[in-house]
Amino acid sequence: MTSPGRASLSTDVLVVGAGPTGLMLATQLARRGVRATIIDRHAGPALQTRALGVQARTLELYSHLGIADRAVDLGKRATGANLWAEGRPTARIPLGDIGRELSPYPYLLILGQDDNERLLGETLRGHGMAVQWSTELVGLTQGADRVAARVRQPDGTVRELAAAWVAGCDGARSAVRELNRIAFEGAPYEHVFFVADTQVTGPMVPDEINVYLWRDGFHLFFPMRGTDHWRIVGILPAPLRGREDVGFDDVAPSIRREAGSVSVQTCTWFSTYRIHHRRAARFRDGRCFLLGDAAHIHSPVGAQGMNTGLQDSYNLGWKLSLVAAGRAGPSLLDSYEDERLPVAQRLLSTTDRAFMLAVSEGRLAGLVRTRIFARILAFAMRFRSIRELAFRTISQIGIRYPDSPLSETLPDLPATGPRAGDRFPWLRLKLSANGPAEDLFARLDDTRFTLVAIRQPAPQAPPGFDDLLRTLTIPADPVNERELARAGMPGRACYLLRPDGHIGLAGAGIESGAVARYLSERVGMGRTG
Ligand SMILES: Cc1cc2nc3c(=O)[nH]c(=O)nc-3n(C[C@H](O)[C@H](O)[C@H](O)COP(=O)(O)OP(=O)(O)OC[C@H]3O[C@@H](n4cnc5c(N)ncnc54)[C@H](O)[C@@H]3O)c2cc1C
Repeated sequence: MTSPGRASLSTDVLVVGAGPTGLMLATQLARRGVRATIIDRHAGPALQTRALGVQARTLELYSHLGIADRAVDLGKRATGANLWAEGRPTARIPLGDIGRELSPYPYLLILGQDDNERLLGETLRGHGMAVQWSTELVGLTQGADRVAARVRQPDGTVRELAAAWVAGCDGARSAVRELNRIAFEGAPYEHVFFVADTQVTGPMVPDEINVYLWRDGFHLFFPMRGTDHWRIVGILPAPLRGREDVGFDDVAPSIRREAGSVSVQTCTWFSTYRIHHRRAARFRDGRCFLLGDAAHIHSPVGAQGMNTGLQDSYNLGWKLSLVAAGRAGPSLLDSYEDERLPVAQRLLSTTDRAFMLAVSEGRLAGLVRTRIFARILAFAMRFRSIRELAFRTISQIGIRYPDSPLSETLPDLPATGPRAGDRFPWLRLKLSANGPAEDLFARLDDTRFTLVAIRQPAPQAPPGFDDLLRTLTIPADPVNERELARAGMPGRACYLLRPDGHIGLAGAGIESGAVARYLSERVGMGRTG
């Protein structure tokens, strides 16, 4: 799908960085036939685990790539979180089915970033695209219709690459961000994290998350693949801060003190890192975009970092594909920042508050952490509404874009139920009178728009858009009525879903002309100038 007038370009999209964010974006582009190039300055994939938590929303988009089942097989479901206060078991929060009825993946999956990158890399190669390793972006100049990118190649020579668009997926020290002089606003925390991949035995509840809260901080134990393998995360004790040569042996005494009779067999990886909370002032500058850690970094509380980068790419991927293919005008790309910058902003403030609660020093803070917090949390999680709210927030299925220029709710839409900007809910519906109830998400094609007509026949796809639009009719049926009632959808409704599963246009009934108007006016399709 090469765009007209781009014959002299080396590539339509240059993706800089092959971490999870870059691999996801390149995969989204490759599967839609966009001519893209992905480079990384490292010689090959990172071997460290780093991020561990894979959220439900990420698994939902992995399912469109055909890798969700493999990810689930490779990882461990977090069935529960056990809170220990000063060495004593204090509360257990069941997590196994916390998002039941909300997502086909109602849990947090524990699967290392290296495994995620491997699955994404294989998918990318399956679509005929491979990472160009040992290739570093060293300069760029933006022009009216292209970006001239200077790239250092494996042999050390620098060549120029002409790209219509550049995606900065190049991590916290993003060259794309710095070369565009985009400020990275925020600050470092004074605390230093450590992470250790270990084989240890101790009182930890096997196969579950164990959280040790103590007066001066916390230790998290995440179960990893294999027997007695745990990822331990904690804050470096204050006397060790500022030291360059800290190793696992330095932090082991504090772990033993708090977690009780822990016996360490091996530590295969140990790293410390100073975390920052920062956000890029803009996510787009002309023909360049920032995604993932290049756009936002924050504390790892809540396992959001890698997942947010993947979602950034899923958001930009379909838009950039339509524009690169000449099917939509470049104004569609403005909605990337409109939608994802507020998400990053909220994430920074919530992870900041949670982090400060977890690390605050002083006697009172220590008492709150060890005596009050665990009990309140365990009590609150007994209530279904709180469990659901927690799951929607942490799993990222609750991310909404109500203020996006792409979101339009017509005045006749029933007052309850999903609105424009929401991720369309996960439902099991009968799509024909005599058929079985089916997982609606499995029926969505994320390379197209989908018009879902509820309790009414679907309108015809408007002329000129039929290759990019599918229709699904949800007939009146007792099974469907139960499911729709559960999602608070009582009456006739029609939803035009974007390729990423968010609702673009919502109304009681949507005629073919309204679909055509939405796609041309809001999405900019057919307006490529
Ligand atoms: C020790 C550690 C532990 C972590 N633990 C967690 C956790 O438990 N949970 C969590 O959610 N997050 C965690 N994170 C954060 C998580 O790893 C990041 O959020 C995630 O890696 C972001 O992915 P990314 O693709 O945006 O950036 P990165 O993974 O940083 O990838 C950026 C890529 O760009 C490449 N690159 C950079 N500059 C250039 C250039 N000029 N030219 C070409 N290529 C370039 C780099 O080589 C790199 O491969 C951790 C991070 C670290 C360091």
